[in-house]
Amino acid sequence: MLEGKIAVVTGASRGIGRAIAEKLASMGAMVVINYNGSAKKAEEVKAKIESNGQKAAVMQCNVSDYAACEAFIGEIIKTYGRIDILVNNAGITKDGLLMKMSEEDFDNVINVNLKGTFNCVRHVARQMIKQRAGRIINLSSVVGVTGNAGQVNYAASKAGVIGLTKSTAREVASRGITVNAVAPGFIETDMTEVLSDKVKEASAAQIPLGHFGKAEDVANTVAFLASDDAGYITGQVIHVDGGMVM
Ligand code: NAP
Repeated sequence: MLEGKIAVVTGASRGIGRAIAEKLASMGAMVVINYNGSAKKAEEVKAKIESNGQKAAVMQCNVSDYAACEAFIGEIIKTYGRIDILVNNAGITKDGLLMKMSEEDFDNVINVNLKGTFNCVRHVARQMIKQRAGRIINLSSVVGVTGNAGQVNYAASKAGVIGLTKSTAREVASRGITVNAVAPGFIETDMTEVLSDKVKEASAAQIPLGHFGKAEDVANTVAFLASDDAGYITGQVIHVDGGMVM
């Protein structure tokens, strides 16, 4: 299990990040719940974890801000002395067709999803290298592999996360650190709630298992990658998508 481990989950105030934080805490880890704007929701996640007799803390940080990430990670190391597990889950969408996409929407999505992942990995890796141990799990997406009309920015950011994952995995493997990506398909969260019923039906029709996944389906895979059982797995992209991409 994960007793005594310190885990950091970005974007853990809602959706998949919340499920990951709850799962890692249930396995014994002390979980730092990061959020950007949803302070109240992040506190609710902490309260739920603590009500089960497990450990959690809440810390605000906009992951797209390099200096803020340095301070955020520095504070965690100062308080807990180490970081064993980093889950880069924070992510946003700003969908639109290429010919209508603004520069701002492109930059915002890249800055949160891809640069935010780099920012946290960059600062946590130093500590994990010192520890000669660590687990990094980055949230990509199936559209980072397949592409998706209307998501040039998002698909590029998630393809970038795969390249970042594999390159980092190669650089830090000799220090006992594993780095993997999880690529969800359609998962029921706020992010997919905004889709029209027509798009949801068309999406479900592309899924061999026939339905959207739950945040817990992704959390279970992340928890496995964070565990000792996954010690010989690095540089991989694990799809959690009901068979959508195979
Ligand atoms: P969600 O319900 O929209 O939640 C997004 C989370 O990210 C929130 O906790 C939010 O915090 C946080 N966040 C956003 N911008 C942030 C920033 N700048 N700094 C720190 N935290 C920030 O999304 P989700 O569906 O759970 O998705 C989680 C991850 O899985 C994302 O990386 C997403 O791309 C990926 N994914 C999701 C699906 C899906 O079908 N849902 C599919 C493939 C991949 P605040 O509320 O505080 O802003």
